[in-house]
Amino acid sequence: MALKRERDGKRLHVKSRLMGESLVGKTFMKNLSVAPQKRLFPDVNIVKIGGQSICDRGKKALPSIVEEIVACSKTHKILLTTGGGTRSRHIYAIGLELGMPIGIIAKFGSSVSEQNALLLSTLLSPWGGLKIGHDEVTKLSLYFAQGCIPVMHGMPPYDYFALPHPGGRIPIHRTDVGTAVIADLIGARSCIFVKDEKGLHTDDPKKNKKAAFIPEIGARELLEMDLEDLIIERSCLEILQNSEVLERIQVINGLEQGNLTGALQGKPVGTVIHRE
Ligand code: ADP
Ligand code: MG
Repeated sequence: MALKRERDGKRLHVKSRLMGESLVGKTFMKNLSVAPQKRLFPDVNIVKIGGQSICDRGKKALPSIVEEIVACSKTHKILLTTGGGTRSRHIYAIGLELGMPIGIIAKFGSSVSEQNALLLSTLLSPWGGLKIGHDEVTKLSLYFAQGCIPVMHGMPPYDYFALPHPGGRIPIHRTDVGTAVIADLIGARSCIFVKDEKGLHTDDPKKNKKAAFIPEIGARELLEMDLEDLIIERSCLEILQNSEVLERIQVINGLEQGNLTGALQGKPVGTVIHRE
């Protein structure tokens, strides 16, 4: 980029298309052409292990999913993320009762999902399980070259900067969102959410026996349906819809062996939500 001297001859600028722009102008931003987003790790699969749905079940759920992850890691590169689950809900409830701001609540959530990352990586340690921090995500090729299975906590590091929103003081960007954002960042091969239900339903199947299973749906259509409750955090749908690199996310039941293997093979297990 060329250097440009100001008319008064005193200051030098680097000439660029963004020079002198507020980066807020609607027309300017809309017409700004940029290179298509690079996919940093297009062969890496991101798999979120649910906090409430899997980790909290302990011995009833984790050993069998760990066994399946280990088997799948022989043929697939897998980056695991973890949710927080019941312990985050406990500290959220206490924090909210005591008037804590959203940034403190987010920080609580972060440390609990980190506990689950430690739990899962420890279970996986005989097979290369390794707990990594968010900053390590750019070093994934190093971990896979050494046969590791990296595990990262899913809560995005907004922490004290968690965005206030009109829906209360529980952060809307939690561990599902962190997982989807990382999948977009690295241009992942797949983004799979391992939970405890067959997939997305028209309502929470734990509360409504009439809830119908939805095997496949578009992100925009699902946003427009504005369902009462969802199996993943709502913002994930916008992240998918706005992504240049993600085409779909998948939600599967981790309490049934074989589902993760099928999803990694591209099979339509559980629910597939595609970008429209
Ligand atoms: P995680 O353990 O990954 O944090 P959550 O417990 O937050 O997962 O979310 C999964 C749960 O969401 C399911 O166990 C289910 O009871 C509930 N749920 C709510 N709405 C729906 C829906 N529309 N379809 C399926 N499950 C739903
Ligand atoms: Mg959740």
